[in-house]
Amino acid sequence: AIGGTAYLAYGVYDQKHPDDQFEPDPTKKNLVILGTGWGAVSLLKKLDTENYNVIVISPRNYFLFTPLLPSCTTGTVEHRSIMEPIRSILRHKKAAVKYYEAEATKIDPERKIVAIDDNSDIKGASNKTEVAYDMLVVSVGAENATFGIPGVKEHSCFLKEIGDAQQIRKKIMDCVETATFKDQSPEEVERLLHMVVVGGGPTGVEFAGELQDFFDEDIKKWVPEISDKFKVTLIEALPNVLPMFSKQLIDYTEATFKEEKITIMTKTAVKKVTDKTVEAEATGPDGKKTLQTLPYGLLVWATGNAVRPVVRDLMSQIPAQKDSRRGLAVNEYLVVQGTKDIWATGDCAVAGYAPTAQVASQEGAFLARLFNTMAKSEAIESQIHDLSSSLNLQPGNTAEIAKEIEAHEKQLRRIKDIKPFHYTHQGSLAYIGSERAVADVSWLNGNFATGGGLTYLFWRSAYLSMCFSTRNRVLVVLDWLKSKAFGRDVSR
Ligand code: NAD
Repeated sequence: AIGGTAYLAYGVYDQKHPDDQFEPDPTKKNLVILGTGWGAVSLLKKLDTENYNVIVISPRNYFLFTPLLPSCTTGTVEHRSIMEPIRSILRHKKAAVKYYEAEATKIDPERKIVAIDDNSDIKGASNKTEVAYDMLVVSVGAENATFGIPGVKEHSCFLKEIGDAQQIRKKIMDCVETATFKDQSPEEVERLLHMVVVGGGPTGVEFAGELQDFFDEDIKKWVPEISDKFKVTLIEALPNVLPMFSKQLIDYTEATFKEEKITIMTKTAVKKVTDKTVEAEATGPDGKKTLQTLPYGLLVWATGNAVRPVVRDLMSQIPAQKDSRRGLAVNEYLVVQGTKDIWATGDCAVAGYAPTAQVASQEGAFLARLFNTMAKSEAIESQIHDLSSSLNLQPGNTAEIAKEIEAHEKQLRRIKDIKPFHYTHQGSLAYIGSERAVADVSWLNGNFATGGGLTYLFWRSAYLSMCFSTRNRVLVVLDWLKSKAFGRDVSR
């Protein structure tokens, strides 16, 4: 308890605003960072901001701890608990950083400017302008893939942002309340209480697990008349869910879903969506394809990532990006191929890794080291330059100055020897419902695959330790305790 209190006290102290933050120096290079997600924030955390004139641009003025987003859709965790204001992150830097809440709409690598639009609802406010950069980091993430399937954009909910989680939470309760409305027909009740999740990646699996928990632990208690009518179906085009996990954990997940009464439809691809139905094509063991129409009340679409328009537009301006499809191709220092002053991290970059939070945050931390080093070596280079000029002016001290130059050059060589980016995979974790999780972790050069209740505790503690701040950590723990003690809130 003493340790916990001390930790908490330190956490609260650490949140204090430093008084000694100094203003950015406009004569320094403009380092423009697009985004406030995993890549951008982990770069900002480690960047020595006093070396540059740092400008952050993002339409979202907070960092979102995405691993707990599925828990937000059912109220196990409240949304504010997993948001950290970007202002509070920036306030802790030694030199101030400018932040503009806006979307980057176009990047012009020739003129070295970014066009931005603040999409403000305030009438008369200026909303479109340009920001010049010397160095640019693109960390804008990706958008939801729909593969052009008709009806998806209009009728389904995604699960990427806080707004999506809030919309899902409202929609679940809307379906429940409408299903119990006076004189509702049995077919309509069945449709409204059919929750369909498309995509058996970690997002779809975690959401389906959380949703079934919400129903089993709470909704059923408050609305007993629908207890045998609520149904969750997970649709996946491939032969199994969670393809990034080992066979043993895939089997464990599928068995757990069976126990939880979540229906998994594998080898089934959704082809069309209407306001009330999903049309899916199932491939049988004999290769025969059959079309099914499934009525639904809530449809959550979790089929992975697609390239954002601003990134696609930038790629079209760079000939070296011609063959890249999934995002900005980068080299081993995360420099966008075909450019010298643009870097990319996370889901918008193609560096040969899966588009995960873990990859993005390691890339961001790498760029911070790279930029800190670049600033240091530039400072030494200018010292060497000054010393070399003084060599001619002070002929008496030649030997001494030459020695000093040599020492600086040695230091410079050491600093400049920065190794290329290398990703260290620490493992994959996913919650699968009914207080169970699956984990493929690498530890001490070994790989461990575990699933179950203990893994769930591991999942909880791992996610808790990854939360951005002590404030977030405390809020998440309180939310967990609250939903355990009082149940989740079933109000809309
Ligand atoms: P994903 O790309 O991992 O999975 C999407 C799934 O949807 C695929 O299996 C695909 O076969 C399926 N699909 C695509 N079109 C379909 C269709 N028309 N009908 C039926 N199924 C279809 O997507 P995700 O789960 O959103 O994850 C995105 C990235 O984020 C991944 O790299 C993932 O590893 C990472 N992530 C990790 C975690 C975690 O580690 N716990 C959680 C969430 C996301």
